[in-house]
Parts: sequence; structure tokens; C-alpha cells
Amino acid sequence: MQRNELVLVVDDQPRMLQSLQDLMVGSGYNVITALGGQQATERLLEHDVDLMLLDLKMPGFSGHQVMDFVEERELNTTVIVVSGETCFDAMSQVLKSRAYDYIRKPYVPEDLLHTVENALNARQLECQNQVMNDRLARSEKLHRYLVNSSPDIVYMIDNKGYFTFVNDRIAELLGYVKEELIGMHYRDLVFIADAEQASYVFSPRAAADTSPRNVELRFKSRDGDRPPRFFEIKTIPIELQADDEAETDSDGATEVGIYGVARDISDRKEAERTINFQAYHDLLTRLPNRALFKDRLNLAVAQAKRAGHQMAVMFLDLDRFKLINDTLGHIYGDELLQLVSQSLQGCLRDGDTLARFGGDEFTLLMPEVDGKDDATVVAKKIIERLRQPFTIEGQEIYVTISVGIAMYPQDGSSMDSLVKNADIAMYHIKGRGKNDYQFYCREMNEATMQRLSLERDMRKALESEQFVLHFQPQIDVISGRIVAFEALVRWQHPSFGMISPTDFISVAEETGLILPLGEWVLRKACSVLSNWREQGIHDVRMAINLSSMQIEHKNFIGLVHEVLRENRLSGHDLEMEITENLIMQDMENSIKKLMQLNELGVQIAIDDFGTGYSSLSYLQKLPIHTLKIDRSFVNEIEKDGDDACIVDAVIAMASGLRLNLIAEGVEDEYQVEYLRDKGCCEMQGFYFGKPAPEKESVALLLNLPFADQRLPSVG
Ligand code: C2E
Ligand code: MG
Ligand code: MG
Repeated sequence: MQRNELVLVVDDQPRMLQSLQDLMVGSGYNVITALGGQQATERLLEHDVDLMLLDLKMPGFSGHQVMDFVEERELNTTVIVVSGETCFDAMSQVLKSRAYDYIRKPYVPEDLLHTVENALNARQLECQNQVMNDRLARSEKLHRYLVNSSPDIVYMIDNKGYFTFVNDRIAELLGYVKEELIGMHYRDLVFIADAEQASYVFSPRAAADTSPRNVELRFKSRDGDRPPRFFEIKTIPIELQADDEAETDSDGATEVGIYGVARDISDRKEAERTINFQAYHDLLTRLPNRALFKDRLNLAVAQAKRAGHQMAVMFLDLDRFKLINDTLGHIYGDELLQLVSQSLQGCLRDGDTLARFGGDEFTLLMPEVDGKDDATVVAKKIIERLRQPFTIEGQEIYVTISVGIAMYPQDGSSMDSLVKNADIAMYHIKGRGKNDYQFYCREMNEATMQRLSLERDMRKALESEQFVLHFQPQIDVISGRIVAFEALVRWQHPSFGMISPTDFISVAEETGLILPLGEWVLRKACSVLSNWREQGIHDVRMAINLSSMQIEHKNFIGLVHEVLRENRLSGHDLEMEITENLIMQDMENSIKKLMQLNELGVQIAIDDFGTGYSSLSYLQKLPIHTLKIDRSFVNEIEKDGDDACIVDAVIAMASGLRLNLIAEGVEDEYQVEYLRDKGCCEMQGFYFGKPAPEKESVALLLNLPFADQRLPSVG
């Protein structure tokens, strides 16, 4: 039978070599030979020798040395010593550890062949074993790799709560070395706040309870220097039959505990946190927003009720913020709000909540105070703090703040009433010159209620045509002719009677009602003028007062155009009165709009001139025709007084700018003469006629004119 194994026969005696070779070849082995030890090493290097029959005693290079060589090179060659060594027995121990077996010379061929066969069989078995082991090792390596490269932490916890296994991922996520964690209790990894959750997933339970348990909790990092990470924990109980240890553990012990994965969900949590933050915070100032403030206030009210303590709610509003925003731009405005909110936060105590309520409004909750004095201290501190200017891009900006305060329980017992009353108190400071604090009191509410009902009534008034226009003549005292009428709005209130525009125009401006009201005035004034034209009254213009909101409205010019066309009027029939402050707010846009009015032929007059802040150079840039001297200056012209110099200055200024001039509020003859002597020849005032309804104004027009003569006063 032909065998696959390669056998190397080594002997220094050629005859012995030959006989062994013959024996082996005869038994079907592949045989190579080496005459002596030296040659044996060469053969071993040239071939993969399975089995070597080795003589021990050889001159020069002994069998021992050959075995040294095999060991050094880690050659996988089985050695059978064939030797005539006399002290063989003594050496047999040594030999046994290096060789498979030994055979004494002269040998018995059957014994030798038998030994060779045994050796080769043993070798084959070992080989198969090795393959199995390799396969096992590879498989284990693969599993280990899969477990360790899992994006999740994979772990096992015994039934006492100690880690018995954990994969490599833990190192990356939490900084622990794997070995540190083995034997550690899960409690040492979780925060006290999460203890209950942790016990739910990690405590031992019956293996039959195979339902997975899920919770989300945080694990501490090893050094506590990284932020804790959030994990989604899944566990199932395990019961492993410890097959491998069966020999050591005779009763076939089972391993019970918890197997689980922990998925890092910190990023998701972070995203959730951001979304949550955005829902409850103002992103510009990073302060709590209105919703969060109300939440906290609600909670604080409930607590204060239970504990019986007092509470303060403040409403804070920056003074003149709109002006800063309009003149310096929104970017400055935003930055200022950020700086202000930082500054305000510096005035608070732990537990207070400062929120941005909207725009330039902030609210402050002091959930526990001893009384008004506590709140006063904080309010004063806030006002004092804002005395320091803020610096934005090298520019110093001063802002002041108005603070309204409502106390729990005396000023309100609900969230809404407290905020509302603090707001009302704040509003009262605004009316009183700003930059102060004020506690709420009941009387304020009445004033505010009146204001609110005024607003409500005004909306109704617009629908039910309760507004009327009166007209006041403007006279050219040289010719004695009426050159124009100023349209002045009044409110015919069903229960309060005639209300003056000074009492409702500012509310209309704040609420935006000025837009529909202003449009109504424009339409009404134009339709009246159109009637007059039909009655043959020409050469008289209509002057209309405008608010800034009207001019700023994008469709304003379109509206004027449309109304003129509908009434078959031209722009030359109209004059628009605006105040200086109106233009100051948004110069560029205002100039643009005024130009467009000019193109329509509409004349522009600066109303209440002298009370604003305009400088000469600035007036020169504006497309205006007329300056209307404020009646407070006209009022100063007195018979025996000598301080009419402001009127003189205004008149001089107007002639310098080559502008038309009109004086309003002229009440007596002396004023008429004084103004005329100074060169101001157009006048308006009670002396010539009070604002009167349309009918009376027409009568006035038709009976006239005669020069330099007092007109009948009407109304
Ligand atoms: P104004 O435009 O300066 O109007 C002149 C005001 O002075 C009118 O008050 C008029 O009645 C009053 N007046 C006229 N002659 C004399 C006088 O000899 N002596 C005194 N003491 N007062 C005189 P009125 O009608 O109460 O209007 C007040 C302000 O309301 C107006 O001031 C104007 O700014 C505003 N206004 C009136 N109508 C409108 C309107 O339709 N739209 C807008 N936006 N504002 C209006
Ligand atoms: Mg006016
Ligand atoms: Mg005026």
C-alpha cells in the first residue's frame, strides 16, 4: 500500500541506512535518507518531513543535535530514535520528551513498522485536532469581532448585578477599560436619579420572563470629565447551560443573569433637547419665552398658595426701544436686547425667572418674597444697572426701563391677572415719563379698562360711521381769501358726545386703527372737496393730517392716487400735514414717499413746526412747501410782551429756505398784525374760524371774501 507520508532515515552507517530504507520503502512509504546528522538538517530544510528515523550516535553531528535543530526551527516532524545506545535507559526520559518513541538496534522490523504506524496515526489525529481548534478559534474570533465592533455596548450582568461581560465599545463611549468594568456593579454606573429605571432593567428576573425591557438612562463616564451619555437600554434575562465547565462543575451549573445592549442615543437626546429648548426659549436672548414663563408662574402660584407666601411679578419694558431700532437698525437692536438681558440677569437671585415676553418686553418672576420691599430692591437695582451705557460697535447707547410690579396674592391670584396687572402698572410709568418702577393698584385698572374699551368702541365707530370731519379755514390775510381748509376729525360718540382727536389719535396709532381711520378721513375730505367743486367753489385746497404709519404703509401712494381719481381731483387740490418727528424716524423712506406725493402735485406742510428737532440743513433736503408755525409760539405773541423772538426766528428761517409759511392758533387781532408785519401772511385760528361742519364751512366760503376783515367765527 502506497503511503503519503514522507519518511527521513538518518544514520552514519551506510549499511544500516540501506536496510532501514529498504524496510520502509517495502512498506509503501516515501523515503529519503541522510548519511549523518549534518545531511539530515539539510534534508529537513528541503522537505516537509513527516517522520524521521534517527540514529543518536553519529560522529560530528549527533542525533541530539538534530533534535535540537528540529526544536529550534519548530519543524513539525515526528522523531523515532533508532539507536544502539547502551545507556539508553537512563536517557529514555529525556528522549521521551523529544521523540515519539525509541527503538533499540538491532531492531525487530515488525516492532519498528508498528511503532512507525502508531506514530503516524497519532500525528494524523493531532492534525485533525489542530484543524478543529483553528476553526474554533476563528469562529470565536469572528464572534468577538462582531460583538466588539457593535455600535452598541453589549454586556452581561449576573444575578447579583455585577458585570460579567462587556464589549470594547464601552471604552470609546465612556472611557472605561473593559477589565475595570468586569466585577463592577451596575449601580456604580448610573445616576441616583435613574436608580429606579436601572433596577427595572438590570435586576434579575425569572428566565421565563423573556420579554425584553427598555428604558432610557444615562451612564456616568469613567472620569466624570465628559458629559454623561444617554443610552437606550434593552435587556433580556439569560440562562446559559455552562457546558464547557461541565467537568469542573459536576452538577451542570447554569449561568443566570441579564444580557443586554445599550445604544448610545446622546445625539438624538441632544436634538430633542434643542427642539425643546427652542420651544421654550427665546433664541435671541436665550431667556425663557412667554410659554415657559407662564408655566413657571403657574407652578409658583400653586406653591405660594400652599405655602402661604408672597410673590412678585414684574413687567419690564425698554423705553424708546423702537426709536433705537428704527434709527440704528435691527442688528443693533438685537444686540442691544442681548446685552440688556445679560445685564438684567445679573440683578436676579437664584430661583427667579426672567423671560423675554416679546419685542422689548421682559417679565420677571420672584416666586418667594417677604413683601413689596424685596421687589423694590430688585426693581431699583435693575433701573440702576441700566444707567450704565451699552457699547455696540464703539457706540455708547443709553437705555432706560420701566418696571411694573404686581404682588401675589393682593394684586391677583392667577397667572393671567398677575401678568396683566404688572403690565398695567408698567403702562402707568410710560405715561409718567418712564424709567421708573411702579406697583400695581386697583385705580390703574379702571384707567386701562377705559383705554381698552376706547379701542373697542373705536373699532365699532369705524363700522358705524361715528366719525365726522370738521373744517377749519386757512386765510391769506393780504387778499382776505380762504386758501384752504384743514380737515380735522372728531368722534361723535353715542354716549360721551363729541370726542377730540387729541383723546383718540394716539390710541388709534398704537393699535393700528389709524390706517382705516386715516383712509376714511382721506376719502371723506376728498369727497367733500369734490362736492364743493361741483358747487362752483374752486381755488380752495384741502389740508389733511397724516400719521407716520399711514405714510409707511406700502400702498399709501396707490391709495391717494385712487381717491383722487374717484373724486376727479388733482394732487394740486391737496395738502398733507406731517410732523417733523414722523420724517425723522425713517428718513430715506419718508423722503421717497414725499417725492411721490410731490409728483402727484400734492403739497407738503410741516405741522407743529418748531416743536421737533429739525435742523436747517435737514429741512433743505426735504421736498416740502410749507412750514406751519405751532400754535404754542403764536400764543406767545402778546401785546405787551417782548419774548416773541421764537416766532421771529421761525419766520426768518422759513424765508431763508424760501418756504411758504402759515401760523396756526391765531386768536386775536394783535397776533394777526404782528405776524403780517413780520411777513407771515397765511393764518389759521379761532380768530378766523373754529373747525366747523361741512355746511357751515360752505356758507363761510360763499359769503366771502373781503380783505383784511375779521371773518365770522362759527362752531
Ligand atoms: P393740528 O393738526 O395741529 O390741528 C390744529 C389743532 O389746533 C386743532 O385741534 C384745532 O382745533 C386747534 N386750533 C385751531 N385754531 C386754534 C386756536 O385759535 N386756538 C387753539 N387753542 N386751538 C386751535 P384738534 O382738531 O383738536 O386736533 C388736534 C390734533 O389732532 C391735530 O393737530 C392733529 O395733529 C390731530 N388730528 C386731527 N385730525 C386728524 C386726522 O384726520 N388725522 C391725523 N393723523 N391727525 C389728526
Ligand atoms: Mg394739522
Ligand atoms: Mg398743528
